[in-house]
Amino acid sequence: MKPHSNEPTFTDPVCGMKLSRKTAPEELELDGKVYCFCAKICREAFEAEPEKFRHRHRQHGTTCA
Ligand SMILES: [Zn+2]
Repeated sequence: MKPHSNEPTFTDPVCGMKLSRKTAPEELELDGKVYCFCAKICREAFEAEPEKFRHRHRQHGTTCA
């Protein structure tokens, strides 16, 4: 798989894996932001407690948008 330099990079907020929207098998839109996940289990964990992962994410100074 070739990397696409103009492809926006998303970070899985649950496990921190770097994904592109094309390759992410799971995505979820919440409050107008799109979150990408490496697996259904990560999406489900985020859906169950979105605030937990969004707060942790913000501490690292990165976004998934
Ligand atoms: Zn994940």
